[in-house]
Amino acid sequence: MAKYMSMENLRFLLNEVHDIKEVLAFDKYEDYDEESVNILMDSIKDYCDKEYYPVFREMDEDPARMDNGGIYVHPAVGKAIKYAGENGMIGAQFSYDDGGQQMPIMLYTSLSHIQAAANNNIGGYAGLTAGAAGLILSFGSQELKDKYVPKMLSGAWGGTMCLTEPQAGSSLSDISSSATPQEDGSYKIKGQKIYISGGDHEYCDNFVHLYLARIDGAPEGTKGISLFVVPKFREDDQGNLESNDVTTAGDFQKVGQKGYCTTHLILGEKDSCQGWLVGAPNKGLSYMFQMMNGARIDVGMTAASVATAAYYASLEYANERPQGRKLSSDGSKDANQEQTMIINHPDVRRLLLSQKALAEASVSILLRCSKLEDIILTSEGEEKENAHDLLEWLTPIAKTYPSEFGIKSVSNGLQVLGGAGFCSEYILQQYYRDIRIMSIYEGTTGIQSLDLLGRKSTIKNGKALQLVAAEIKEAIEAAMTYDELKPYAQTLGSKLQEMQEIIMNLMQYAMKGDYERFLSDATIFMNYASHVVVAWHWLEMATKAKQALVTGNLSFQEEFYQSKIHTMKYFFKYELPLTAGWKETLLSQEVVTIMKEKELIS
Ligand SMILES: Cc1cc2nc3c(=O)[nH]c(=O)nc-3n(C[C@H](O)[C@H](O)[C@H](O)COP(=O)(O)OP(=O)(O)OC[C@H]3O[C@@H](n4cnc5c(N)ncnc54)[C@H](O)[C@@H]3O)c2cc1C
Repeated sequence: MAKYMSMENLRFLLNEVHDIKEVLAFDKYEDYDEESVNILMDSIKDYCDKEYYPVFREMDEDPARMDNGGIYVHPAVGKAIKYAGENGMIGAQFSYDDGGQQMPIMLYTSLSHIQAAANNNIGGYAGLTAGAAGLILSFGSQELKDKYVPKMLSGAWGGTMCLTEPQAGSSLSDISSSATPQEDGSYKIKGQKIYISGGDHEYCDNFVHLYLARIDGAPEGTKGISLFVVPKFREDDQGNLESNDVTTAGDFQKVGQKGYCTTHLILGEKDSCQGWLVGAPNKGLSYMFQMMNGARIDVGMTAASVATAAYYASLEYANERPQGRKLSSDGSKDANQEQTMIINHPDVRRLLLSQKALAEASVSILLRCSKLEDIILTSEGEEKENAHDLLEWLTPIAKTYPSEFGIKSVSNGLQVLGGAGFCSEYILQQYYRDIRIMSIYEGTTGIQSLDLLGRKSTIKNGKALQLVAAEIKEAIEAAMTYDELKPYAQTLGSKLQEMQEIIMNLMQYAMKGDYERFLSDATIFMNYASHVVVAWHWLEMATKAKQALVTGNLSFQEEFYQSKIHTMKYFFKYELPLTAGWKETLLSQEVVTIMKEKELIS
């Protein structure tokens, strides 16, 4: 079977870079130790080898679709949901009291990485169910918890998040689904939602939609949105399931992730759709954001995992494909010589290094985010607050960098295969199509960038940024102990300073009240900031690798550690310098994209 991810790399990141032992030491996680972490990771890898990876292509070729009035999904989905339910993997990160396994988020995220690298079309079904159950657990009444959560965690009932409507995508303030209070305390729901992932299929007996709607008379905009539980089937007085007037109108046919159904739901056509309020009225969007933050980390990890799988597929091909000859010292080629493998051509190595650099740094960033989540869940006071602020700043980057730059990374992987990369026979084209959605899901790159620059970088007088800067400086200091790493550490130091100067510069527009100008190049700022964050993670990985090589305390072959240092050098030579161009754009006085009166792009 083809390699689709590296357990060595995952262990290196967990143990040597992000020190999962610190997390395992928290009381909350006393039932986990290094051994059980390893056993769980190995067993999920084994399961994915047998059940996830072998059906990856099939799910693309036999896509989810509307069929005979129902939604068809590949039978592997049913098998996976059953397995996850029986083994307590849906909501494994929840506390024991809530029916979970109290699993450290770092471990949960690592398992997600293995699964998404094996097959990114399956994990979302259980992942969204867990997210929906998490919302009920955090904000719902005891009655809602008792009624829905156990069935969701067992896999019998699926869960979804229902935000998007035809006129309300990025702009959720325009949601128009309505909720009319009823005498029995429930609400009559009317509306439609589009692009609802995992919204209907034959492998769950019911679907629990976490649904955003406006209670009659609620304020306009985001302040008037409430959250409801709206099941596909509701229980009658005898506890039997009956229709709740939720109709699945269709399944969107997509460019990629074809095995993951994307449904169109219409509610209340017969005026008999019932929903139950979760938490307080008009607080729905803030509740939903809890789920969306986790979902953004999940999307980032899925993108990182697709990019990882694409890297290994390209690497395998490059090692086996003979083409061309190495240049001799006078620049000529000797046709009598045997062809060389394409991995020996510098340009192919550059493409492969670009893939490795993106994939491994992305996984590292996402594991850092998971560790911060663990700290938030287990600590108090300043430690908790700092972890929270840091995570808030990192989340848009952790979602966007693997998604947006992952597209280029997988495209480079496709390029490694030449014409074969463009042909259906090879898997790269599927990775390329599958990763494309990641920069759209859970808030587009444009929206994430507005969040990073407009909110996360400025709240609390830029406190999050100061925390990030302190962490980066710590990594720089550690790297400075090794002569080989010094120049890279110094480069990162100057990029960090530059980033702070860029923000100060852009802030001048905000202070003058010109918010459009302040935020018009937020995505360019995202590019800049994410590259600084990636450079930080590469420097950190290289430092740990160097430390292991110098001390001889090696868990893996020497080449493994050397390749880390080498990839760090690639990133600093080929990718970090791109920030110079973005800096020029960000500091330029010229205005090109802000539309003035009567000035249109034609
Ligand atoms: C396969 C798939 C699965 C999905 N699953 C779900 C799901 O399970 N649940 C759910 O609720 N939704 C889901 N979505 C919806 C998804 O979250 C939205 O598609 C996404 O948020 C973008 O909204 P939109 O498609 O309406 O695009 P629009 O909001 O119309 O955006 C179009 C373009 O305009 C840009 N833009 C919009 N507003 C601004 C702004 N203020 N500033 C700068 N740029 C802006 C965007 O960045 C984008 O480039 C899914 C979508 C797809 C395609």
